[in-house]
Amino acid sequence: MRLVEAAADLLLGRTCAGCGRAGPMVCPRCAAWVRAYGPRIVRPRPTPRGLPMTVAAAPYTGPMRGLIHRYKEASAWGLAGLLGERLAWAVLTLLHRCAEDGLWTPGPVVLVPAPSRRSAVLRRGSDVTARLAAAAATRVGAATGLPVVMRRLVRMRGRTSDQAGLDAQQRAANLRGNLVVTGGPEVGAVAVPIDDVITTGATMAESARVLRSAGVRVLGAATVAATPRRPSVSGTPRPVAGAPP
Ligand SMILES: [Zn+2]
Repeated sequence: MRLVEAAADLLLGRTCAGCGRAGPMVCPRCAAWVRAYGPRIVRPRPTPRGLPMTVAAAPYTGPMRGLIHRYKEASAWGLAGLLGERLAWAVLTLLHRCAEDGLWTPGPVVLVPAPSRRSAVLRRGSDVTARLAAAAATRVGAATGLPVVMRRLVRMRGRTSDQAGLDAQQRAANLRGNLVVTGGPEVGAVAVPIDDVITTGATMAESARVLRSAGVRVLGAATVAATPRRPSVSGTPRPVAGAPP
């Protein structure tokens, strides 16, 4: 892995992943931009059936696009710290909201990364979503004192096509029947599906569906970023009341 990181450094030089300016991997300005957002509940339009309450840490715009792209496609694992921190905040917000609404009594939590195609894992040299989920699990566990772990409970069958370029319906059709649950969470644990970016919500909805079918309680979902809705149907997403600082 070190070799991959070194190669990425050589190729990209020392530039900020968010804005491309010379300097550290994330410049203070881009880090501040990312941290300026409070997590929000997101609902893609159309909302896929079975999508659990989903909290995203920031919109998938501005520096966030560059950060996630370099993290995923250029093996910039150093960005897992900042992105994992934001994801942890989204998870904490979800937990706080569910506890407040009486939907959850604090207890063990399992973060379940959205499954990656095997070819993508091989190309990237890592399961990038699982890596983020693991970073977030450590932070959420430390912040709450609860047992919080990452488990790859949902796997993708080999024949699933790349989701990029597919519309909402095509994505849902591509995933239907192609996600499987392997193993189960700890007794009494709730599952929180995790992804880096939520676009149509198809992956989150299908992950939640197969987990529920396997008897796993899905509390909600969390992502680092959310693709903003189109202007005609957008609106300011409702901030989550009482979100942790
Ligand atoms: Zn920057």
